[in-house]
Amino acid sequence: MYNYVRARLNKAASQLRDLPPTLALVWAAAPSYTLAWAVLLVLQGILPVATVYLTRALVNSLVAAVRAGAPWPGIRTVITLAAVMALVMLITQVFRSATIWISTSQAELTTDHINQLIHEKSITVDLAFYESPDSYDHLHRARAEGSYRPIAVIESLGGLLQSSITLVAMIAVLVPFGPILPLALILSTIPALYVVLNSSQHRYEWHYRHTAAERRCWYYDWLLTSADAAAEIRLFGLGNHFRSAYEILRRRLRTERMDLARRQGFGELCAGLTTLAISGLAMALMVWRAIRGLVSVGDLALFYQAFNQGLALARSLLENVGKLYENTLFLGNLFKFLSLKPNIVSPAFAAPVLTLKDGIQFENVTFGYPGTDRFALHDFNMALESGQITALVGPNGAGKSTIIKLLCRFYEPNCGDIRIDGIPLAGFSIEDLRSKISVLFQNPVRFNSTAAENIHFGNLKCTDDESVRKAAAIAGAEELIASLPHGFQTSLGKQFSEGVELSTGEWQRVAIARTLLRGAPIILLDEPTSAMDPWAEITWAEQFRCFAQGRTAVLITHRFTTAMFADVIHVMAGGQIVESGTHDELLALGGLYAEGWANQRDEAHISAAKVKYAS
Ligand code: ATP
Repeated sequence: MYNYVRARLNKAASQLRDLPPTLALVWAAAPSYTLAWAVLLVLQGILPVATVYLTRALVNSLVAAVRAGAPWPGIRTVITLAAVMALVMLITQVFRSATIWISTSQAELTTDHINQLIHEKSITVDLAFYESPDSYDHLHRARAEGSYRPIAVIESLGGLLQSSITLVAMIAVLVPFGPILPLALILSTIPALYVVLNSSQHRYEWHYRHTAAERRCWYYDWLLTSADAAAEIRLFGLGNHFRSAYEILRRRLRTERMDLARRQGFGELCAGLTTLAISGLAMALMVWRAIRGLVSVGDLALFYQAFNQGLALARSLLENVGKLYENTLFLGNLFKFLSLKPNIVSPAFAAPVLTLKDGIQFENVTFGYPGTDRFALHDFNMALESGQITALVGPNGAGKSTIIKLLCRFYEPNCGDIRIDGIPLAGFSIEDLRSKISVLFQNPVRFNSTAAENIHFGNLKCTDDESVRKAAAIAGAEELIASLPHGFQTSLGKQFSEGVELSTGEWQRVAIARTLLRGAPIILLDEPTSAMDPWAEITWAEQFRCFAQGRTAVLITHRFTTAMFADVIHVMAGGQIVESGTHDELLALGGLYAEGWANQRDEAHISAAKVKYAS
């Protein structure tokens, strides 16, 4: 048993290693408030001792005054002591109120500081971070716990310091009555200390083990309450299915949590009974001494106050130890998250700004996403000529979108090279590389901001409204935006008041405008026309050809009527290029492209497109 307790205490001590960085974090967030908080704590720790001594002096002077027939000097002493005691109580109250204000300010500043650190880290970690469920668990723990735990650590540390100061002083008060009483006070805390540490550790381990299950509960909750899933939930009648899945999972988690709480309650009961027995014995000892005239009535009052306060303090001290321990355990997750380092970084000596005169080459590139054993690209070779529009077509999962992600250096190939002007991508600074690329992703973000801002986000450096308007015009979004209640200043999306919801195709045009505003020399568009009507598609393709002049563009598309206007078309399958050529060459080849073309053929649409582009 002794060894077990010792091992537990050692483990607890080693797990407090995150305490110094926590304090540093709080200090960095709110130095002056933290200083004021520490000073107030020490003062509040000392004040109860003054109260105890004043009580003894007051009781003794009152007894003396009564025994002497209440002469004025005796009464004056009593009144003076009572006045000093009232002053101490007033100061205590003032300090308590000041602490509320100071610790609230400290908490607000610290929470914001931590959220800033989490946000900063979230936008710099590799995209691969978001590929694994472990990462989500990490992020979940850091976000769920990180924002309030440091302040909880500070609160429990404060409580701990304050209780310790007062407890040490109370023990000092009890020392003149012999060593037994202070010893009894200390002994009575040991079982409770064990229970507190043990339950904190179990609670932490339980939370750690169940992060994934808790996240799943949040997910079900999101499905049941979000606008994104609302239509399918209703149409497919999935509401009760997900409600019961949520309930089953919650029941399991709830039962286990309640079981933990029951065991903790039982442990606390045993510890509490031990404390009660020890304090009963101490009390009996003092009463016996008072009956025998070994201590005065004032001494008995002092003992009663000091011992009782000592027990209450020991209790709060233990609670604070437990909270401190538990909060520090949880903070380990935040620090782990904050210490993540991106693997994809700029080189120490970056190549000069890319000019794109020699185009882009993929050389024997093989790539599989992190955590999978399948390759999205396999020994992939492709040259993108400078100033040309290249179309990539191919079945689902052929690896087309993966090419965009590799070009942006969101991931590194497992082997092979991607070069721009003959220099491997890793030779350029990431900021420079990404500033030269403009991408329309397959599922572009629908920013709940104004239409102008939605476009402006493509290039925050661009400050003139005319460029925003021009980008909207090329993307075929100008008319649509003009028809909105406040034109470019109309808020899009329904998350905030007075927002206007757009159709999928309309959102797509706004996103294309955002991509074009960037004005980058490399343009990568993933399914730019997937949600466009056929009439708009032709006009859009015409305007895009003009815009893309002098730039290097890649069009990923399932629409052959979009692909046909590229300078060169690559057909992909199974992570490789299987056919290449112009539209006519590929038709003449009679392979996969020709087959797809025949399947998609819609005479009216195709001939309209042909006429337009032949001219
Ligand atoms: P689609 O036409 O359906 O958009 P695609 O040709 O663009 O398909 P990619 O998105 O490049 O295909 O995907 C290629 C392969 O990589 C697919 O087998 C897919 O399952 C896999 N894949 C894509 N994204 C991820 C990811 N984030 N994690 C793991 N595997 C992925």
